[in-house]
Amino acid sequence: MPKKLFIRTFGCQMNEYDSDKMADVLNASEGIVKTDNPEEADIILFNTCSVREKAQEKVFHDLGRVRHLKKLNPDLVIGVGGCVASQEGDAIVARAPYVDIVFGPQTLHRLPQLIAERKAKGKAAVDVSFPEIEKFDALPPAEVKGASAFVSIMEGCSKFCTFCIVPYTRGGEVSRPFEDVLTEVAGLAANGVGEVTLLGQNVNAYQGAMAGSEEMADLALLIEYIAEVPGIERIRYTTSHPREMSQRLIDTYLKVPKLVSHLHLPVQSGSDRILAAMKRGYIAIEYKSIVRKLRAARPDISLSSDFIIGFPGETDEDFEKTMKLIDDVAFDASFSFIYSPRPGTPAVEMEDSTPASVKSARLSRLQKRIDELAQAVSQSMVGSVQRVLVEGGDEDGVGHGVGPDLADHIEARLAGHLHVQERQRHLVLSQQFECTGSRACCQHG
Ligand code: SAM
Ligand code: SF4
Repeated sequence: MPKKLFIRTFGCQMNEYDSDKMADVLNASEGIVKTDNPEEADIILFNTCSVREKAQEKVFHDLGRVRHLKKLNPDLVIGVGGCVASQEGDAIVARAPYVDIVFGPQTLHRLPQLIAERKAKGKAAVDVSFPEIEKFDALPPAEVKGASAFVSIMEGCSKFCTFCIVPYTRGGEVSRPFEDVLTEVAGLAANGVGEVTLLGQNVNAYQGAMAGSEEMADLALLIEYIAEVPGIERIRYTTSHPREMSQRLIDTYLKVPKLVSHLHLPVQSGSDRILAAMKRGYIAIEYKSIVRKLRAARPDISLSSDFIIGFPGETDEDFEKTMKLIDDVAFDASFSFIYSPRPGTPAVEMEDSTPASVKSARLSRLQKRIDELAQAVSQSMVGSVQRVLVEGGDEDGVGHGVGPDLADHIEARLAGHLHVQERQRHLVLSQQFECTGSRACCQHG
């Protein structure tokens, strides 16, 4: 019987992607298959996130909950990967001695060796180094699971926003070579993938080496080439940084219809004073100018964003500026968080005298406004016809996954409250689409 792997993922899409890669690596090396049940697993991995303190603490809590499984299965391997692993390294084993392996986002391809090392040496194996792009060369081809796939095109971040831990846990920005990305996309398309989402911590900072050329490819060029790959119908990318939103990339919305009409562009704050303290590298009017140019290129573009509330020194006046920016831009959806002090980042040293209750009240007000705006966008779409990506079949027997005979794209009429009421060829629309009712998150484009 093949060995079984249970993975618990915390955090962002990059982590979801990395978890898939961990499963691919272990499957390719030892035929290990995934399970949803930690109790029957031979390997339990936690792919962690340290962007906010809560997520980090949850890891240790969850680790404690699987500890007893070692009594039932002494050969069980418990591993911690991702950003908490990268940040804490050996300290994880010191705090939770039953952990067998600790690995970072850049060393997940070494999982089989780390497991072997743990068994050979009888003590925990820890590797949280940054061997940069080696990871991609060592990864097996991705298993195609549907019509849509993620493709990581760059890793890390060199921006060092004063609140953020990512540059310390994931290392500096490193892009994959241009041809490597195209080869991966072509392989996915040949296996029935119609939509790719290009991933990176600051994906629009992509600078990929091109074979036989001194020049680097930017994201705009990469998108143009991907649009030419037979079978690729839609292209997405996330997450973008406003500083890297070049005119060339904005023009791509004019040139490449396959580029989906959605952009996640985190702004964090609408106050120039706070943006400077965050070291974001733009002011509010520059952000709004990018939005204006994007809407000139693609009038129906859907925009979403991230906000940090209660950054050290944020006054009522600063917060009102954020509220004004929200109204000016009219985002379709957003993620908002109360500032969480992260060890080792410059913002930890900044004076933060705003009471937690004031921060919570600001967050509630902001989220309420964002919801109202999102609802208005949803309502404006009722009755419109949208092109959607079919991600699976229904219980009547049409299989899940998308092959050439299951039309990847159908026209669906949106009715009621953006719930799809019509079925075509027994296909149901993706749950994601049905549930969110939001342009930003759904699979239309
Ligand atoms: N690179 C992207 C950018 O700068 O736009 C975002 C990546 S970051 C890992 C994801 C989001 O987490 C950020 O946009 C920010 O809103 C949030 N975040 C990061 N550090 C945080 C902190 N210390 N407290 C609260 N939220 C934080
Ligand atoms: Fe973190 Fe800033 Fe880098 Fe985004 S750009 S990952 S917020 S340091």
